[in-house]
Order: sequence, then C-alpha cells, then structure tokens
Amino acid sequence: MENKKKKVLVFGATGNIGFSSLEIIEKENYELVGFSFNNNYEKALEIINRFPNALVFSPSVKTKNTVNSFEELLEKTNPDIILNALVGFSGLHITLLALKNNVDLALANKESLVVAGWLIEDLKRSSSSRIYPVDSEHSSLYDSLKNNNKEIKELIITCSGGPFYKKEFNELLNINFADAVKHPNWNMGKKISIDSATMMNKCFEIIEAYYLFNTKKIKVYQHGQSIIHSMIKFTDNSYIANMSVPDMKLSIQQGLSGYESKTNLINDLSFNNLNLTFSEIDLDKWKPIHWAYDFLENQNRAIPIIMNAANEEAIVLFEENKIKFLDIFEIIEKAIIALENTEVNDLKDILNLNKNTRKYVYDFSKNKFRY
Ligand code: NDP
Ligand code: MG
Repeated sequence: MENKKKKVLVFGATGNIGFSSLEIIEKENYELVGFSFNNNYEKALEIINRFPNALVFSPSVKTKNTVNSFEELLEKTNPDIILNALVGFSGLHITLLALKNNVDLALANKESLVVAGWLIEDLKRSSSSRIYPVDSEHSSLYDSLKNNNKEIKELIITCSGGPFYKKEFNELLNINFADAVKHPNWNMGKKISIDSATMMNKCFEIIEAYYLFNTKKIKVYQHGQSIIHSMIKFTDNSYIANMSVPDMKLSIQQGLSGYESKTNLINDLSFNNLNLTFSEIDLDKWKPIHWAYDFLENQNRAIPIIMNAANEEAIVLFEENKIKFLDIFEIIEKAIIALENTEVNDLKDILNLNKNTRKYVYDFSKNKFRY
C-alpha cells in the first residue's frame, strides 16, 4: 500500500513555534496543507514560496491561495493533525475547532487550556481528537507517562525562572521591556518571553498540567539550566526525569508525530561538566505560582480567564512603556479581586469575562498610571 504523507495544518505559522514546525514538516516528509498568520505578511510570503501548494488564511491580510476563514481553511485542507501555535486567547477558537471536527491537535497554545480547560475536557468526551501538548514540560511528561505502570505521587515541572529570577524584588522596579523579553535559555515569541520573566508562564503551565494530566499534585522547581524539563515522582520515592538540550523542536516533533517520531532533530546533551541545580520557588515573591495553586484549590473558573486577559493587556501596556514591570502583577491582582465572583458556565461566559477583564484593565490602568 502506498505510504500516504501526513497532512499538517499549522495555525500561527509565522510565529516562533509555527515557523520552527515547518522545518520538522520537511524533515519528517509530512505535507503542509495549509497555514494561518495574523499580519506578518513578509514571513507569510516566504512560507508561501517554500510551500506553494498550501492554502492560507489571515484575519487581516489577503494573499495568494487565500481562503476566507479558519473554518474554511480546515474544511478545504482536511488535515490529519493541526498545530495550534497561535499566541494568547485567540488560540482558543482553534482548539475548539479541532475538537469539534475530530482532528488531532498538537497544542502549543497553552492559553486555551488555561481559560477553558474544563470546556475542552467536556468536548473531548464526544470527540475523537487526541491532544498532544507542545510545551516542553508537558510534552516530556506525556512522553514519560506513556508506558508507566507505577503509582504516581507527584508530577514535577521545572522552570528556569527567566532573566530576573535571582534579582531582589526592588531590583525589578526599573526593568524595561527590552531586558524582560530576553530569555537566558530559550528563544521564544515576545509574549511568552515576558510571561517567563514574570512567572505567569509557570502559573499557566501548572493549570495546563492540571487539565492535561488530571491531577492537582503538581510541583515546580527552579532549574536554571533548562535541561530537565519534567519529572515523575512515584510513591516509592523514585523519580523519572526527562531531559534534553532546551530545543522546542523536540516537543513540536513529538506533538506532530503523536510521540512516534524516531527522527533525530536536536543536538545531543554534553555531559562534560554538566551541572544541574534545583531550588524551591519562593511563593511570596512569585505570586503567579501562588495564584495557580489557589485556583487548583478553589476551582473558581473565573480566575484563570481573568489572569490571562489581564496579563495580555498588561504586557501590551508594558511594551508601550505605559506601566512598569512590577505593575503587571498589580494589574492582574486588582482584576482578580474586581471580577472573581463572575459566574462561568459556558463559552459565552468565557468570552464575556475575557472582554470585561480587558475593559477593567484599560480603565483601571489609565486612571492609576495616568498615561
Ligand atoms: P509568536 O508570537 O511567535 O507567534 C504567534 C503566532 O500567532 C503568529 O503566527 C501570529 O501571526 C499569530 N497570531 C497572533 N495573534 C493572532 C490573532 N489575534 N489571530 C490570529 N493569529 C494570531 O508566539 P510563540 O510561537 O512564541 O508562541 C505560540 C504559543 O506557543 C503560545 O501560546 C506560547 O505560550 C506557546 N509556547 C511557545 C514556546 C516557544 O518557545 N515560543 C514554548 C512553549 C509554548 P503574525 O506573526 O502574523 O503576527
Ligand atoms: Mg514550557
């Protein structure tokens, strides 16, 4: 029988993860059947030249091979797997689209799980889609858990702590956007780089792990080298650690292949003078980790939606130099206090709370920071 090429549809192909996936699609001999972008026309053209048969959609720009919506892109390309590499809340639409259409999903867009994990769980029950996480910690956990028969005590994810982890809190006052966006170990999109510096990324990853692996027993250690991505701790106090050089290509490759790829894409680790260090996170200093654990306890569905929307808005204000780095925390905290009693039962409620939080942040910040 003819060996058919796997058909891949990439949402957010001009971004950091989406663009890296193209090299993997080529090396694995998959077919890129379509892609979306937002407004990076130049990069989109480069992709069109490289993959002339792919269909394209952008909500804001018309190009060659263009279709008119995300839905049409999915319908016309009929993919075997979707990579959701959109950033932020906008990615929720794609996750829901994949599940409703029973298409497997390689999920980089962690925000969709953060804001709607319970809805995604519901939808998954009536969908044949499988979700493969494309976040290094979660992808490595998924891999380690695949053939495990032992009783698990705890899942552990690591974090590098971003560029400012070792600084005292008052030293964080005058950090500017250009410094915050530089990550020591990973080369990533702007938004997730700021999320790493504030630790909102790890807050979101705790919630992501909770929904993906259906457990509240999730621990975070700071691990500056980003070599060990995750560990499983068993009831007999033994551990399995999953490690590699920090390179997102591995997680993308595993996600796209459904953890079956044997192709060697990343460099090997060097064990010469390899020093691995770990420490407990100071939860008083890094409030976002605290907020994530609070959510696991109180299960207030409003809180992750508020955190996500307030965080996205605060990052824009920070980039525009209207607020300072530490104001991001204050904005999120104030938004939580103002809106946490909102009831959330369905998608409409999620969309409304997302919108209302952004409005709250806009009004609060304009008034408080006087720009
Ligand atoms: P980027 O900002 O680099 O890319 C985002 C992509 O989404 C771009 O293609 C962009 O288009 C598109 N996009 C942005 N906004 C919209 C919108 N409103 N509607 C439609 N498309 C939009 O992000 P990353 O690649 O860094 O991250 C993508 C996701 O993967 C995030 O959820 C992130 O948390 C997660 N992730 C990323 C990692 C990394 O190493 N980068 C690691 C682990 C997880 P355009 O370019 O045209 O603006
Ligand atoms: Mg991660």
